[in-house]
Amino acid sequence: MLRRFRLEEPESVKEASELLARHGEAARIYAGGTELLLAMKEGLVQYERLINVKKIPGLDQVKLENSTIRIGALPTHTNLEEDPVLKQKLPAFVQMEHNVANVRVRAVGTLGGNLCFAEPHADPGTVLMVLGAKLVAEKASAKREIPAEQFFVDAYETCLEADELLTDIRIPAMPERAGAAYLKFGYLERPSVGVGLFIDWDQGDTIADARIAVGCAGPRPKRVAEAEELLKRKSTKEAASALARAGEVAARAADAIGDLHGSAEYKEHIVGVLLKRAFQQISQQRSSKSQR
Ligand SMILES: Cc1cc2nc3c(=O)[nH]c(=O)nc-3n(C[C@H](O)[C@H](O)[C@H](O)COP(=O)(O)OP(=O)(O)OC[C@H]3O[C@@H](n4cnc5c(N)ncnc54)[C@H](O)[C@@H]3O)c2cc1C
Repeated sequence: MLRRFRLEEPESVKEASELLARHGEAARIYAGGTELLLAMKEGLVQYERLINVKKIPGLDQVKLENSTIRIGALPTHTNLEEDPVLKQKLPAFVQMEHNVANVRVRAVGTLGGNLCFAEPHADPGTVLMVLGAKLVAEKASAKREIPAEQFFVDAYETCLEADELLTDIRIPAMPERAGAAYLKFGYLERPSVGVGLFIDWDQGDTIADARIAVGCAGPRPKRVAEAEELLKRKSTKEAASALARAGEVAARAADAIGDLHGSAEYKEHIVGVLLKRAFQQISQQRSSKSQR
């Protein structure tokens, strides 16, 4: 049963932040409510006030501004999987959104709520890391940009300050020659393991940049610089043979935890499998692009 709470309806980020500052631990931001209301119904958390941010103008938009895609915190997963700008510019992100949860959760749950709840078995954090995203946090008096890899501190814990809101996610447009993929595996409702990969080639066949992130297996999604280094400055063929080692490094970095979603060893194995498949997917897309 839900206990009684008061619903606040601020009309600006400043007003929402001031409410957070004034009521402290007794108040919480409320977006789609798919995580928050469930946790409150189960008595895991209790808040006297929920601050509904859905009436704040401008937080529900997706825009291409110069070479950056700006996504507000409030679009639902359904909004994002159907968005024409994202479909054209960030197909790997759209694919990830299409596979989040189920149709009912996607219709109500927001991207901002997913990121701020920092549930370990979640997809967007991992893919945002390889896309080079920055998360914008705002409070009454200040605004800052946080690289996606610094946002998650632990399971259910982000680096947001008590009176900060997540307002925007900023993603640089993909370079012409680059490719990205996010693959996940799971047999329960939420994923057991997720792997993101971004590869950018120079004008020839050398990998100029590589980003690898792992999520769901451990308490928080992580970028794995050591595994990325194994692919950088390699030809496509050389990188393909370095993948097994990169997968081992990424699996170790995932801090996999044995739970209902699988043993730690099993999750580590899946990290390697998904990394290889993500590389194959990006390479195949690159070959088909060059044949057009
Ligand atoms: C059955 C089920 C299956 C799921 N499966 C998946 C899955 O496969 N993959 C996946 O990635 N996710 C999955 N999810 C998670 C789902 O994506 C999230 O529930 C949803 O996106 C949360 O968004 P919301 O708007 O409902 O958040 P809310 O429940 O409204 O909020 C969640 C938390 O974030 C805080 N918050 C919300 N917005 C902001 C903001 N702008 N600034 C600061 N704090 C904020 C709230 O205070 C609260 O603590 C699943 C969820 C369910 C219930």
